[in-house]
Amino acid sequence: MAIRQDDNRPSRRFGLINLLLIGFGVLLLFSNFLPNPATQVPRVPYSLFIDQVNADNVKRAYITSDQIRYELDKPPAEGAPTVLATTPIFDMDLPQRLEQHGVEFAAAPPRKPSFFTTLLSWVVPPLIFIVVLQFFARRSGMGGAQGALSFTKSKAKVYVPDEESRVTFADVAGVDEAKTELTEIVDFLKTPERYAAIGARIPKGVLLVGPPGTGKTLLSKAVAGEAGVPFFIISGSEFVELFVGAGAARVRDLFEEAKKKAPCIIFIDELDAIGKSRAGSMGMMGGNDEREQTLNQLLTEMDGFAAKDKPVIVLAATNQPEVLDAALLRPGRFDRQVLVDRPDLSGRKTILEIYAKKVKLADGVDLDKIAQATSGFAGADLANLVNEAALLAARAMRTTVEQKDLNEAIERVVAGLEKKSRVLQPDEKKVVAYHEVGHAIVGHLMPGGSKVAKISIVPRGMAALGYTLQLPTEERFLNSKEDLEGQIATLLGGRSAEEIVFGEVTTGAANDLQRATDIAEQMVGTYGMSEILGPLAYDKQGGGRFLGGTNNPRRAVSDATAQAIDKEVRSLVDRAHDRALAILRHNRELMESISLRILDKEVIEGDELKDLLAASTLPAEAALSPAAVA
Ligand code: ADP
Ligand code: MG
Ligand code: ZN
Repeated sequence: MAIRQDDNRPSRRFGLINLLLIGFGVLLLFSNFLPNPATQVPRVPYSLFIDQVNADNVKRAYITSDQIRYELDKPPAEGAPTVLATTPIFDMDLPQRLEQHGVEFAAAPPRKPSFFTTLLSWVVPPLIFIVVLQFFARRSGMGGAQGALSFTKSKAKVYVPDEESRVTFADVAGVDEAKTELTEIVDFLKTPERYAAIGARIPKGVLLVGPPGTGKTLLSKAVAGEAGVPFFIISGSEFVELFVGAGAARVRDLFEEAKKKAPCIIFIDELDAIGKSRAGSMGMMGGNDEREQTLNQLLTEMDGFAAKDKPVIVLAATNQPEVLDAALLRPGRFDRQVLVDRPDLSGRKTILEIYAKKVKLADGVDLDKIAQATSGFAGADLANLVNEAALLAARAMRTTVEQKDLNEAIERVVAGLEKKSRVLQPDEKKVVAYHEVGHAIVGHLMPGGSKVAKISIVPRGMAALGYTLQLPTEERFLNSKEDLEGQIATLLGGRSAEEIVFGEVTTGAANDLQRATDIAEQMVGTYGMSEILGPLAYDKQGGGRFLGGTNNPRRAVSDATAQAIDKEVRSLVDRAHDRALAILRHNRELMESISLRILDKEVIEGDELKDLLAASTLPAEAALSPAAVA
C-alpha cells in the first residue's frame, strides 16, 4: 500500500503543473484577442487624417506601430467624436508634415517583450513536449518511475487459483479426449517427485489445437486449477511489438518469473503469432527478425529449464497448427499436441447442461433438442446461446427460461455465426459424410508419416463442411515421391467417394482439388520428381514453401516443355484419382458402414476410428500400379 502511494504522489503533482501550464497557455493566447477598451475609437481612412492635418484641424497625435490616435481641434459636425484613429502607412514625411501644421505628437516606445513572456516562450514548448511524451508513455502502460526499460517487462497476467474462482475440469465439457490427456499433466504438476524418482522426463510443452471458442483457454486454466498451481497467461501477439529484441526480452522475463513460482503453468495464447514457420515467412517478406528472435528465445528457454522437481509446463494454444515452425514441435518442446475440437452431439448436451445450471430453467425444457439443432457450435457459442435465452426470457418478464427462448436464441446465435460457419441440411450431411470417409479410407492406406486421427461432419468454418484430420506421427522434413502421391490420392478420396456413391460430384471438393494440383505441380516443377522431365526446377524460388506457393513464376521454358509439364501434372493427378477410386470401390462396404456411423455420431476419433479403419485393405497390386492405369 505504502509503496503505491509513494508512486502516485509525484504523478499527481505533475498533473497539477500540467493544469497550471495549460491555463497559462490559454491566457497567453487570448490576451492578443481581448478587445482593448482604449481602441474603441472611430477609425478613419489615412487620407482623411492627412487632409485634416493639412487643414490644421489636428491638435495632437499619438503614434504607435499599429495605429495613430489623434484629437481634432473642432469636430466636423456638432456632437461628432473629436478623438479618431487611423492605421499608419509607411510614411517618412509624416513627422515633418505634423510639425509644419503645428500638431503636438509623440510616439510610443518600442514594445519590449516582458521578462515573463520571454520565460514562457522558452519554457512552455519543451514542457508541452514532455507532457505529450508522458501521455504516450502512460498509454502504453509504462510507469513513469520505472524508466524506459520497462517495456521489456513481461505483460503476463498471473492467476493464483483460490477456492472460489478456481476453474476445474468439471467446468469444461465435450472435450473428453483433451481432458484425459491433460489429466496426466495435472499429475506431473502435483507429484513431480514421483516422475523424477523413476527418471522420467516430464513433458515441457503441450500444444492445444482447435478452432476459436472451443475452450482452449478454459482448459488450461482448469489444468492450473486442478493442480493448484499459479498460471501465467500471455498472448503470443503481446510478445511481438515495436522494438526488435523486446519480444525476446519478454520471453526471458516471463520464464524468470515463472521459475520463481514453480511448479506452475505458462499459457501462451495464439502461439502462431510468434511461432509461424520460418521457412514460410522467408519467401515473400524476407523474414521477420523480431518474430524470429522471440521464437528463438522461446525455444532456448524451453530447452533450458529443467528443474526436475519444480516443473514449469508451457501450454500453448493455436488455431492454425499448420503454420507453426517445425522446431516448436520437436521433442522437449511442444511435443504433445492435444486436439480441442468443436463438440459433438453428446458434448454439446453436456456443455448446455453446465450453462443451464447457471440460469433458471423452466420445467420440461429439452436440452437434447437444442443440442441436435446446434451442430457446429463451439463451447463459447453454446455459453452465449444460454445467456441469450436468459436475456430473452427476462425481457419478456418471465422468471424462467423456456424452450422457445432457447430456440429463438439459436436463431440469433446462428445469425451471428452465419458468416463464420454453417448448419447443414440432411442431404448435404450425407454427401459430406461419404466425402470425409473417402478421405479417411484412402488416407489410412497411403504411406507417409501421418495417421487419420479424426473424421468429423461438424461444420467448421466457411470452407470446410466436414473434415478428416491427419496428424503427423513423426516430424517430417522430407517427403518421398510416394508420400506425395499418397497425399494427392488422399485429397482426391473425398471426390472419388462422391463419384462412386452418388454418381456425381459437388462443389465441396474444390479446396481438395486445389491442394492436390498444387502438390502435383510442385512435384514436377519444384522437386524434380518427374521421370520424363528430369531433376530440373521449373519453378523459381518455390523451394522452401510447401503448399504455400501460389504465385511461383515459372522459369523461362520452351512451349514444348510447358506442355510437357502440364501433361505430367495432369497425369499425376489422374493416376492418384484412379488409385483413390480403386481403393474406395474395393472397400465399398466399409465406406458404407463408417458413413452410416458418422451420420449418427457426427464425429469418430481415437481407438474407435482406428479399429474401423483397420478393416480396410488395399486392392490387388495390379489395380494400383501405374501400368494398369490407361
Ligand atoms: P478458446 O481459448 O478455445 O478460444 P475459450 O476457452 O476462451 O476458447 O472459451 C471461451 C468461453 O466459452 C469459455 O470461457 C467458456 O465460458 C465457454 N466454453 C468454451 N468451450 C467450452 C467447453 N468445452 N465447456 C464449457 N465451456 C466452454
Ligand atoms: Mg482463447
Ligand atoms: Zn474434402
